[in-house]
Amino acid sequence: MTHHGVELSTEDVARFGDDPSSTFAANLQVVRARIDAASLRSGRKPGDVRLLPVTKTVPAHVLRLAFAGGISDFGENKLQEARDKQAILSDLAIRWSIIGHLQTNKVKYLVRFASEFHALDSIRLAEELNRRLEAEDRDLDVFVQVNTSGEASKYGLPPDELMSFVERLPDYPRLKPQGLMTLAILSGEAERVRTCFQLLRSLRDRAVSVHGGLSRLSMGMSGDFEIAIEEGADVVRVGQAIFGPRPTADGHYWPGLIPRS
Ligand SMILES: *Cc1c(COP(=O)(O)O)cnc(C)c1O
Repeated sequence: MTHHGVELSTEDVARFGDDPSSTFAANLQVVRARIDAASLRSGRKPGDVRLLPVTKTVPAHVLRLAFAGGISDFGENKLQEARDKQAILSDLAIRWSIIGHLQTNKVKYLVRFASEFHALDSIRLAEELNRRLEAEDRDLDVFVQVNTSGEASKYGLPPDELMSFVERLPDYPRLKPQGLMTLAILSGEAERVRTCFQLLRSLRDRAVSVHGGLSRLSMGMSGDFEIAIEEGADVVRVGQAIFGPRPTADGHYWPGLIPRS
């Protein structure tokens, strides 16, 4: 089956339907409406919250259809996956965001194509990013990731190390800090999820007094973005509500993942 010149396999059709562009565009509308409703509920203006569509596990040729359906901001967890897709889709004006943990040996690839990075969590990484950005003569928007759930397996700075980290950010002038990022605990208990978002917001309030750039909150995914917006999210990172369920176990992206109960 062919759409916009893209050949879809039986597998693609089973996962994304026979008209992925329209399906994604319709899902996007529903998500935007839910974002706007949550914004209004929490005394914010519709349009204040940015939606970052998360495209991990969606194959590059299918993303070509997402682009045709009006999605041009792509969030990817793994650098290698993002890099492979970017090479295939380099003819499209896509804005790539890397939202997952990054090893320092991958930094050189990130600085070549990514517009922003949501998982800054160590001085070593800040140093290496700054050095490589300097070589490329460019800047990078970054969010500092904080571990708000206290789960040992989660990436991100422990909350009590955030302030000393933030104080050192001016040493890396190629990094343009935008705010803080977190993954809430994966739990069916809304109040436990909400506590993670509240913690990130209170940390932001302190961090922003030291570094004025750190004013935004990147928090909320398909299962919890409405709670995140109620707690002040400025950017929500949403994959499955737009692109459908992922076949890959999420443990591939989040080590030590505990299933939602
Ligand atoms: C996958 C992912 C998301 C989106 O999760 P969904 O359940 O698909 O909405 C958000 N943030 C990060 C860091 C991710 O890896």
